[in-house]
Amino acid sequence: MKFIDEYRDAAAAERYAQAIRRITTRPWTIMEVCGGQTHAIVRFGVDELLPREVTLVHGPGCPVCVTPVELIEKALEIAAMPGVVFCSFGDMLRVPGTARDLLSVKALGGDIRIVYSPLDALKIARETPDRQVVFFAVGFETTAPANAMAVYQASRQGVTNFSLLVSHVLVPPAMEAILSGPANLVRGFLAAGHVCAVMGYTEYEPIARKYQVPIVVTGFEPLDILQGVYMTVRQLEEGRAEVENQYTRAVSRAGNRPAQKMIGDVFEVVPRKWRGVGEIPASGLGLKPEYAAFDAEKRFGVAHRIVDESTVCISGSILRGITKPHECPAFGTACTPEHPLGATMVSTEGACAAYYRYRRVQLQDSPRPGLETTR
Ligand code: SF4
Repeated sequence: MKFIDEYRDAAAAERYAQAIRRITTRPWTIMEVCGGQTHAIVRFGVDELLPREVTLVHGPGCPVCVTPVELIEKALEIAAMPGVVFCSFGDMLRVPGTARDLLSVKALGGDIRIVYSPLDALKIARETPDRQVVFFAVGFETTAPANAMAVYQASRQGVTNFSLLVSHVLVPPAMEAILSGPANLVRGFLAAGHVCAVMGYTEYEPIARKYQVPIVVTGFEPLDILQGVYMTVRQLEEGRAEVENQYTRAVSRAGNRPAQKMIGDVFEVVPRKWRGVGEIPASGLGLKPEYAAFDAEKRFGVAHRIVDESTVCISGSILRGITKPHECPAFGTACTPEHPLGATMVSTEGACAAYYRYRRVQLQDSPRPGLETTR
């Protein structure tokens, strides 16, 4: 499993699918908590290779999708302020707030720039000291080290016109929230390989024990996912609930300690709202008090905005694995990538976008809810 072709080898995939079929005796619902895995599953039809008893559901694994609408509204408010340069990764620009998105603020004259790293935003701040430069820090544990580094460097370099609008979320508390929900169907998890590359996987061990669910750290290619599903089903069938690592080429149990230290130096664990899910205790990162001067919410006085979620978009139910994207009445009609009603239709990692891109034609040929083709 060294090169991309090997990860996508159809004959090997079929062998894994046969192995899963051989060991499966009962229905199992398994959730992946990573938008990259969701897209690989839908794009390559991994779920269609599995036996009927094994259902894959898509969890809250897309950071853009789980950013609450009130954070988007704060971003829109700050980005429209005179003298502000608002920097973001490109995938946030079309995420809808209550009435507009960052792209429409840009069209009205807002100085909104797409950057590829928070350090690019810090560079802009150094080069334009007369402007306030804000970086929209959205993401899981994967992007937190670079965002922490940007604040750390800004502090050391005395850059006072730089700040972060922070919307960092943490995966393990979201998994616990799903497992504790009354409608929970999930019996096992594929944990996101890139998150574990940073954080390791010791945090998952108490969850596996407490809720008696297998958790398999899994990569992103079709064979990774099939192997992760095989390992999860094998545990379920054997009555085990352990953390196992499929993605050994990138993940160690302890993770990346320097990256963890950088996160811990700059951020602290805080409660965080998840779009469509609500507030989950200790599920996010916020700047530590010693870095409060770099907090855009405080700098621009938008910390206490409260905004209601859309009543049309059911992405909260999708992100908890209760509903599939094509079961939303707005899917492909009122809600499309060109006119999205929710973030899960916008983001390149969103489940609704994946179904729209890879399953739309197939779904048009099957009556709603169409579970025949997507299970
Ligand atoms: S199809 Fe659109 S409205 Fe429906 S859940 Fe997905 S993003 Fe929300």
